[in-house]
Amino acid sequence: MSDDTALETDATELLRTLIRNACVNDGTPASGQEVRNADALEAYFAGSGLSFQRYSSGPGRVSLVTRIEGSDRKAPTLLLMGHTDVVPVNATGWSRDPFAADVVDGIVWGRGATDMLNITTTMAVAMRRLAKSGFRPKGTLIYLGVPDEEAGGTYGAKFLVDQHWDAVKADYVITESGGVPIPAPDGIKLPVTVAEKGINWRRLVVKGTPGHGSMPFRTDNALVTAAEVVRRIGTYQPKAKILDEWRRFVSEIGLAPEMTAALTDPDRVLEAVHHLEPLGLARLAHACTHTTFSPNVVHGGSKINVVPDRIAIDVDVRALPGVSPLDVDAMLKEALGDLASRVEIEAPRSQEGSRTPIESPLVDAMARVTQALVPGSKIIPRMTGGGTDARYFRWKNIPSYGFALHSQRIPYTEYPLMFHGNDERIDTESLRLSATMWEALCRDFLG
Ligand SMILES: [Zn+2]
Repeated sequence: MSDDTALETDATELLRTLIRNACVNDGTPASGQEVRNADALEAYFAGSGLSFQRYSSGPGRVSLVTRIEGSDRKAPTLLLMGHTDVVPVNATGWSRDPFAADVVDGIVWGRGATDMLNITTTMAVAMRRLAKSGFRPKGTLIYLGVPDEEAGGTYGAKFLVDQHWDAVKADYVITESGGVPIPAPDGIKLPVTVAEKGINWRRLVVKGTPGHGSMPFRTDNALVTAAEVVRRIGTYQPKAKILDEWRRFVSEIGLAPEMTAALTDPDRVLEAVHHLEPLGLARLAHACTHTTFSPNVVHGGSKINVVPDRIAIDVDVRALPGVSPLDVDAMLKEALGDLASRVEIEAPRSQEGSRTPIESPLVDAMARVTQALVPGSKIIPRMTGGGTDARYFRWKNIPSYGFALHSQRIPYTEYPLMFHGNDERIDTESLRLSATMWEALCRDFLG
């Protein structure tokens, strides 16, 4: 068996194990049970000479840390961080059992295959190979398998950063997501995630006056008011803002010059995204240029013959970096207009976005390494509307990136549909490419 084939098989089998462990995080503290994947990773590392620390934030919520200590204290420390949990599935929408980890024609199917057990796996494969080869770098390399990313990292990255900083302290961090090649006319573009929007969850509580459902005339029905509140939130558009990350990304992906110009003009971008195809790109373009408001859950009413006096509407707000939680509340008041006095705004989550400069020695090393694996490729910055554990490190001013290296077998336009969606899958060639890239990157960057 060639080394490449052995590497691909190794990564595929570890990924299948992690998928089958089904560490499903539904947001409740007892879910996840990522200890199963921590155990699997520790078993995988056995015999490599690595030693481990475990950090438990609650029953079954285990982080696994292992490190190769550098010889030069002035050299940088690199943290490779992969989450070990996955989101729930609706199995009826899947073509295959989401936790069987079937391999069909070089594709691994299963929950977590792209978010992000694939990367957690390939980082581990590189770590073990480096350890077994006797790698003695100048800089320190840390591998971290972390729980609870899918519910915000309370029991994982946030817990470690707040309570075990010495275990995860690093000069650079890499985690999900990125490195899905975009074929542009002038070559392959490899996005590296450098910015995230801020997650702001708001509950809008609409009050009314209870009454008999048989006599609705001139009643103060909270649900009728809430319907108008939802309509206003759903159609509200704050002014667009063009960040440098978006400008650089969109100018590299090979769109027509006129479209690129419109998508980077705050006065024209909203009109432009209405006509942009495919739909996934239109949604991305809108999300990367606007703070967005999505009313997603409604609670209220008690009985069919009672006029409701209280309705709660949960709105998922994603703020562009630079837009504060206070700005979000001001935007909501603007959206509500004359109904603002009828609505109480509760804020179960208020987070700033986060940004890392793309200019850094680590990204230079990524460019060198990927250039050798994908000749003619170019690294470009990317912003994501989702949240990742990188933000806990960016908030401490530690340069943190989302990256990996994928093949072109699954088109880049498919990836947004697979994250938290049905039929999540990854090709085994991408596993081999990523593992190879991590190993080369560590050798290049840590010396
Ligand atoms: Zn993820």
